[in-house]
Amino acid sequence: MSELQLKDLYDGFRNPDTIRSLAKQIAREAEKLEAPLRIMEVCGGHTHTIMKYGLPQLLPDSISFIHGPGCPVCIMPKERIDHAIALAKMENTILVTLGDMIRVPGSKTSLAQERAAGYDIRPLYTPADALKIAKENPDKKVIFFAIGFETTTPMTTAVIKATVEQKIKNLFFHINHVLVPPAVDAIMADGKARINAFIGPSHVSVIAGAKIYQPIPLAYRTPVVVSGFEPVDVLQGILMTVRQQVQNRAELEIEYTRSVTMEGNTKAQKLIETYLQPRPHFRWRGIGDIERSALELRPEFAYLDAEKLFGDVLPNEPIDDHKLCICGTILKGLAKPMDCKVFGKACTPNTPLGSCMVSSEGACNAYYRYQGV
Ligand code: SF4
Ligand code: SF4
Repeated sequence: MSELQLKDLYDGFRNPDTIRSLAKQIAREAEKLEAPLRIMEVCGGHTHTIMKYGLPQLLPDSISFIHGPGCPVCIMPKERIDHAIALAKMENTILVTLGDMIRVPGSKTSLAQERAAGYDIRPLYTPADALKIAKENPDKKVIFFAIGFETTTPMTTAVIKATVEQKIKNLFFHINHVLVPPAVDAIMADGKARINAFIGPSHVSVIAGAKIYQPIPLAYRTPVVVSGFEPVDVLQGILMTVRQQVQNRAELEIEYTRSVTMEGNTKAQKLIETYLQPRPHFRWRGIGDIERSALELRPEFAYLDAEKLFGDVLPNEPIDDHKLCICGTILKGLAKPMDCKVFGKACTPNTPLGSCMVSSEGACNAYYRYQGV
């Protein structure tokens, strides 16, 4: 018997015949719609799949996509990036963070530019490397600029736990972990985006449980389908939202039953609650201040909190985006990347003016890559 390859696990979920057949089923079902269906895919991972596989071209005109705020890099406001830069410039400091964050422009420069200027700024392949770097550099302060949605929070929390248990004295945390449901709620409460269904990210729900989305259908009579990231999963999720709409239902459903449950990973949830708590406010790029939409260290771990310990070097004022950048409007579902005057001209993945062009999950980046600009 031949060995199982990784591609054997996902090939079926990218199968062109299955994709075409699902698109046909959606088109048939969509004929029964009484009004156009505007689906927000909350997560940048879904935007990536939608653009990569040309799903809008496969679906009837009555179904359109609105790209949501689901990328932790895209929604980080400039002042938080300026925080990272200010921390990196402190004496005897190593600043560590995950991937794309390094390229996002702050108010004047990016971490990448500061690294080129000589500051010790290191990308992490995994959060656990922060611990390793701290142990290898006992004479330096190591500051972990931690970002992500519910998916990556347990990994950061595991590093905090190890720091506490192993009594590591030189590792500190600047926490920027944000929560998906309050942002979705803010967009719905605003009402301008006229969304009538959501595709929710599956990996967030693997950890937090699909239950986190339950308030949305209840409050706004809007279906939410938690879907996987492969094109067949996304299309199946769309079919489920169309059926709900046709049958006049507004429910929370799970398409990605391969890994998502209503309850999620309760062990990971407990770990997070031990070390982190909701912060009263967090400013999302483009969306603005949203109550209890991000996490911070609990007061008993304030001795690890870079924001509190080094608060005197951190800028406080909110900083607006580049005046030509409409990332904020895109993140609220009110515009598409093509609506931006500098898209693909002054702003490209190599010369990003805004965060949506930096991250591979950003809407502008996905349009640039897959629309042959
Ligand atoms: S972190 Fe997860 S939920 Fe957020 S954009 Fe990336 S893939 Fe989507
Ligand atoms: S193309 Fe660039 S400048 Fe325009 S909205 Fe996107 S990130 Fe901002």
